[in-house]
Amino acid sequence: MWRMRVFLRCLMPLLVYAACAASIEQNGSELVLAWNGESRVVYDIAYSNDLATWTNTSPSRTGDGSPIQVPVADILGDPNADRAFFKLATHYQDNEDGAIQDMLTPAYYNAATGDPFRDEVNTFIYHAQREPLHHPLQNGTNAIPAFTVPVGGYFGAGKGPGGTAEHHPAVDLHVGNDATVVDVFAAHGGTVQTYKNVVQKFRHHLSITQSITNNTGQVIGKMVTVYAHLDLNLDEAGGLFMDGQTVNAGDLVSKHLYSGTMGGPHLHFEIRYYRPDDAGDEEFYGFNFTVPSAGPWPYGYWDPNIGYGFGDPKNHGLVLY
Ligand SMILES: [Zn+2]
Repeated sequence: MWRMRVFLRCLMPLLVYAACAASIEQNGSELVLAWNGESRVVYDIAYSNDLATWTNTSPSRTGDGSPIQVPVADILGDPNADRAFFKLATHYQDNEDGAIQDMLTPAYYNAATGDPFRDEVNTFIYHAQREPLHHPLQNGTNAIPAFTVPVGGYFGAGKGPGGTAEHHPAVDLHVGNDATVVDVFAAHGGTVQTYKNVVQKFRHHLSITQSITNNTGQVIGKMVTVYAHLDLNLDEAGGLFMDGQTVNAGDLVSKHLYSGTMGGPHLHFEIRYYRPDDAGDEEFYGFNFTVPSAGPWPYGYWDPNIGYGFGDPKNHGLVLY
């Protein structure tokens, strides 16, 4: 963590300049700008030493506050920059902006821009996606076995009638030549909460739950990763029993994929987002949760009463295909 005091001129509304002091503090991966007794996370660190250029090239954001002008040449390590403009946002990036798109509850897509629920989801997802995920097939020496993702196995793949009635909210990883002896690792820290539920298409699966907190440490929801089509009977026979265990990212959680999985043995890896008080009881994503939405997915895949929806692994820095 570093902290430095800088003097700046605040670019106030109506372009009235006022001298004031500010500090910019790096807190983990976040940049916090404090000025005039206020502080905000600067989540959009795009900057320019020219306000007009920056304004014209920066992607538009929902609910951005007034830009603020800061002489931050030292901070940014740019000897040519004698000042920069940070956008102080009052809302987090909208999930439908560019590549960030996930697969969320229809209630999200049906809410207007600026709606409190939409802001709540955007805030949660922003914080959930701060932590990069560990590759679920990557072992302690960072080796990853050869794997493939079939056409219907990527995130958002249409699988229902006509390819539109259902979307796959996960990624299917087929290892080698349909191997069944496969080590599976925790993508993040947390607690193994659901274990061995035999649901129609999942066979055995386990889930890992991690609380998501905001800037002030308040719990604003839960991220759950689901590892499905496992054979936990074989794991237990081999002495591996993970139910209720606390795990860290990269910990071994299973050693066997279920041999009878339709389409061949594979790991179905899924990221789910829940509200703070949701039970997080993982059931299969199928038709019971299918509710039409107005969003980019023709059909929503989450009961609005349960949680926020499903995350695309690539938004957690996990590029699987
Ligand atoms: Zn799958």
